[in-house]
Amino acid sequence: MTTVDLPLLPLGRGTDRTSERGVECPGDLPAPSDPGLVERARAAKEALGDRVFVLGHHYQRDEVIAFADVTGDSFKLARDAAARPEAEFIVFCGVHFMAESADILTGPDQKVVLPDLAAGCSMADMARLAQVEDAWDALADAGVVDSVVPVTYMNSSADIKAFCGRNGGVVCTSSNAEVALEWAFEQKPDAKILFLPDQHLGRNTAVQKMGLTLDDCVVWNPLRPGGGLTPEQLRDAKVILWKGHCSVHGRFSPAVVDELRATIPGVNILVHPECQHEVVLKADLVGSTEFIIQTIEAAPAGSSWAIGTELNLVKRLANAHPDKNIVFLDKTVCYCSTMNRIDLPHFVWAMESLVAGTVPNQITVDPETEKWALVALERMLALPGRTQKD
Ligand code: SF4
Repeated sequence: MTTVDLPLLPLGRGTDRTSERGVECPGDLPAPSDPGLVERARAAKEALGDRVFVLGHHYQRDEVIAFADVTGDSFKLARDAAARPEAEFIVFCGVHFMAESADILTGPDQKVVLPDLAAGCSMADMARLAQVEDAWDALADAGVVDSVVPVTYMNSSADIKAFCGRNGGVVCTSSNAEVALEWAFEQKPDAKILFLPDQHLGRNTAVQKMGLTLDDCVVWNPLRPGGGLTPEQLRDAKVILWKGHCSVHGRFSPAVVDELRATIPGVNILVHPECQHEVVLKADLVGSTEFIIQTIEAAPAGSSWAIGTELNLVKRLANAHPDKNIVFLDKTVCYCSTMNRIDLPHFVWAMESLVAGTVPNQITVDPETEKWALVALERMLALPGRTQKD
């Protein structure tokens, strides 16, 4: 089967139903106001028993997390799914690239279901394979492609991971990006890195963790001819950052950090490395979602925290730790809109479809893409000193 191409339409814009997949679900999508949704979800899960394994990403809504067998970030969840070969169905409450990774890492008989196909990731969608191949051609024209090692963040489509696998590169997570970049620099003399698709994680890792300068990094803009860079700039750069970002983490601003420091005495600023470099520079602690959770769990009672990550997780942490003062690092409410596509009606619809004997919204990666994506993922698993915090 082929990998499904899923361009997102910005929410509220466009009416192309073939592009806004997931808007229509075959069968009856329950109404959000249905008072029986919780009971229906519980009954469907009970009916499926061990045949189903439900994964809940940290950024999911509470109403969905309530039915997750495990919670975690994308790579932890894919590994959790791989560790449950007896589960016939993996219901992935997360976004599309995560379900692809689960399909790659699970057995051929396991079926991965995404309750709403419109749950994409705007960051992953910012690097399309054809665009990356164009950039690769430009690197060849500049005479540097033989020294380039592509590194892609977990938050990318399977075909971008496969591109990295085919071209000597690797996948990284937000907690092992530094090790991955160190590995990449060791692969070739005068190695350069093409970092996909999150410019902020790439820049924060290169500059804050590895001691490179901002001038060592250039940004490849896929929407401009030649990426908006000259061949000389490509030759001089040590890290070529893809111009992608997370629409949630990219919102946090240094000005709000200053404001919170002025209004909350002793506040600790804790952010995800997908945030802008200027925000990371002002933070006290920077790390993956697992790091953020562990930091709050270990924090003393009475301490104050402003957290720069997705709002569902921040709210859940605040509720779980009423003895600590936890606030969101933004003045406006901002959930990940695509994560939030997975709501209780879609979850119930997917689970009841499985009970009825149909597999809705199955995510499959074609064998060739899977083979090369697995190469890049296995290179990551073999990285030296890799931490367990993904
Ligand atoms: S939080 Fe950002 S990176 Fe994560 S799924 Fe949403 S848009 Fe993508």
